Amino acid sequence: MQALKYLAGYPEPLQQRVRGLLAEGQLDAMLARKYPDRHAVRNDGQLYDYVQELKDRHLRQAPPLGKVLYDGKLQVLKHALGTHTTVSRVQGSRLKVSREIRIAALFKDTPPEFLQMIVVHELAHLRENEHNKAFYQLCTHMAPEYHQWEFDLRLYLTRREWAG
Ligand SMILES: [Zn+2]
Repeated sequence: MQALKYLAGYPEPLQQRVRGLLAEGQLDAMLARKYPDRHAVRNDGQLYDYVQELKDRHLRQAPPLGKVLYDGKLQVLKHALGTHTTVSRVQGSRLKVSREIRIAALFKDTPPEFLQMIVVHELAHLRENEHNKAFYQLCTHMAPEYHQWEFDLRLYLTRREWAG
């Protein structure tokens, strides 16, 4: 029985059901019906604008963005599907803190909901380091369907890995 690493934290009956859908080849069709679109955020420049716009709308007071890029080497699962780092450097007498956001390269070609979910996750880390209650409140403030999208992203990644 193949382990479903993206669903490892979920109850076994749910994992069984997903294995069933995979075996019957139904997971693809289910996801395609629910998420028929593809976004057009193709390169790092477009990604920067996309992230900046969401930040302006929801987190204007948070620290300014540093670099924003698609990273082909990022392990999707390692940090809850993305990473966020704080880069501090001394500029004159002040310490300037800017935030770098790296998004795993596989998100270049996904439904827009999944890109938005992962960007919202990283933006929420501008305010909250931990995955705590305040963090998830920020996520659902920026994307009310955040939890559903995260779960469906896990299905999408499971399907992708299953296909090889
Ligand atoms: Zn996180």
